[in-house]
Amino acid sequence: MNKNRLVKDIIEPQYVIEGAGVLLRRSIFPHVSNQFDPFLLFDHFAFNDPVEGPIRGFPMHPHRGIETVTYILKGSVNHRDSLGNAGLIGPGDIQWMTSGGGILHEEMPHRGPDGLIVGFQLWVNLPAALKMIRPNYQGVSTADIPPAKGPGWIARVVAGELVGVSGPVKEIAANPVYLEVAMEIGAKFTLPISEDYTALVYVFDGQATFGDQEVGAVEMVVLEKGSRIEIHTGETPVRFILMTGAPIREPIVPYGPFVMNTREEIQQALIDLRNGTFVQATNPV
Ligand code: MN
Repeated sequence: MNKNRLVKDIIEPQYVIEGAGVLLRRSIFPHVSNQFDPFLLFDHFAFNDPVEGPIRGFPMHPHRGIETVTYILKGSVNHRDSLGNAGLIGPGDIQWMTSGGGILHEEMPHRGPDGLIVGFQLWVNLPAALKMIRPNYQGVSTADIPPAKGPGWIARVVAGELVGVSGPVKEIAANPVYLEVAMEIGAKFTLPISEDYTALVYVFDGQATFGDQEVGAVEMVVLEKGSRIEIHTGETPVRFILMTGAPIREPIVPYGPFVMNTREEIQQALIDLRNGTFVQATNPV
């Protein structure tokens, strides 16, 4: 029996300054309450006013125990890491980075030809058994993200499956679905989902109805449990990022760019960073 998911909460993103002075809209962030398990953080970069000045980006910084997922719609992000990887995340591209035991990286956004940067970064938790694995990247360029279509809607499938279309990002512990969806007016979008999975929908343009609740951009919609997501549009089209994942159900201790299970593991991360052994600390394969 299908049970459509109702709205549990609507979160209005707050402006925060991160990195070397980057303005972001942040809707969720890591907290011991872990209420969006397996999701930890969601940031929306939108530097669309030249008076905001130069974009200084995110100089070299560490991560441990998480995955960072960067999806760019406009502009680009130059990426460089401690393993010698370097590349450009361009419009429509995704980078799914598993930090595992440790990575140091730099993320420098650049405006596109129209002067805009629009993108998103999601953090996904790793279970205790995978927190110290070797770092891994799944970088997918726009041409390799398949579209899925239905009446009045089109989706880009990054991870998971939608109407028989499989996303290119695979083998992620949280078994996520990650979609970017555009709906025309008067359309209906549905997605079957495991009853107990966490589901978040970030509405970044337009307006849609979830159950009996209308939500307009820019808001993060937290859905109740249930076996089906159903989203309607009326007189206004909508665009959103839809994310679902399996809860990991472990305690978390977040500290800046690290999310571990215990305080001792956070202390160890700081010791490794100080001793210059941060990147080498990963478990042998
Ligand atoms: Mn980072």
